[in-house]
Amino acid sequence: MSECPCCSGKEFDLCCGPLLSGEKKAATAEALMRSRYTAHVKEEYPYVIASTHSSTRPPDNEYDDYQDVG
Ligand SMILES: [Zn+2]
Repeated sequence: MSECPCCSGKEFDLCCGPLLSGEKKAATAEALMRSRYTAHVKEEYPYVIASTHSSTRPPDNEYDDYQDVG
């Protein structure tokens, strides 16, 4: 029994644990941010990188726009 590092007050296994292990996807943006914070705390860097990459990467269609202009 351990409290989740994201300060939700819930147990890790009932909070960010399933997200970090890939069992569940974050249902909300807040849950995603909490899980990423928890991943930092627990040094689960592959999870941080994976979740950051998909949410901050520019949309592919930006490149299409540049090609249309050229
Ligand atoms: Zn949590």
